[in-house]
Amino acid sequence: MSLLHVLQNQVAMLAAVCALIGLIVGSFLNVVIHRLPKMLERDWDGQAADLLDQKNLPDVAKKLRNSDTARYNLMTPASTCPNCSHKIRAYENIPIISYVFLRGRCSSCKAPISIRYPIIEAISGVLAAYIGWRFGFTLAMAGALVFAWSLVALTAIDIDTQLLPDDITLLLLWLGLLVNLNNGFTPLTSAVIGAMAGYLSLWSVYWLFKLTTGKEGMGYGDFKLLAAIGAWLGWKMLPIVILLSSLVGAIVGIALIVFTRHGRNTPIPFGPYLAAAGLIALFWGETINRTYLQLF
Ligand SMILES: [Zn+2]
Repeated sequence: MSLLHVLQNQVAMLAAVCALIGLIVGSFLNVVIHRLPKMLERDWDGQAADLLDQKNLPDVAKKLRNSDTARYNLMTPASTCPNCSHKIRAYENIPIISYVFLRGRCSSCKAPISIRYPIIEAISGVLAAYIGWRFGFTLAMAGALVFAWSLVALTAIDIDTQLLPDDITLLLLWLGLLVNLNNGFTPLTSAVIGAMAGYLSLWSVYWLFKLTTGKEGMGYGDFKLLAAIGAWLGWKMLPIVILLSSLVGAIVGIALIVFTRHGRNTPIPFGPYLAAAGLIALFWGETINRTYLQLF
């Protein structure tokens, strides 16, 4: 029996393989979450420096450019301990296992390693296992994996930096239209309308809120993320995504203000709720919609 045959017929085996791949991807997601915002910041500094040059402020521009010129992307430099710059060896970089073996501390300086790393790896692995079990060895499975992993990365980046980078949201949007060319998750018409309606619905809320209160309730990244979710799952999923994310967002937001010293005017990222609602819609959206329609 070939491996392909096993993956097609043994769902438990497929889920296990997906979990393993999910753990490794989770490890890579940690790099993306940590580095992508920094890469963007460098990029913006560069653009600002160009602008300052054009405005004949070469000295300020030079300072901005010289702040850090070493190559920095998802591959270079190699990962090091932020405390002692100890180079992380391959066996110290095994998802979850290394964290447990190192007891959550750097092998060199014993500085604690954030629990966030194994958590992201675990979430990415568990989601992948569930997707494998749920979709079987299909193209839809591959699509759902990409969708879920992207949402995990976006969630963590939004919590850290209040940013939802275009590099992920827009890529996800175009991929969503692509997977639905052949009705991957929803007919193409529904995907196109979903992308459009997703963007415009939050865009309208944003402007309504801004014109009435003068404040910005969310960012353009949120519109793009909902557009991407609409492109993947179709317009029919948008109501439950908006409902679920607003509901959970409001509960968590109120809890944060009441139970912590979170300022009423400190923005709370909306991306994580959209992402979670997007995943719920992917897995149980049809069921929720059907139950909901039966009620009326
Ligand atoms: Zn260290």
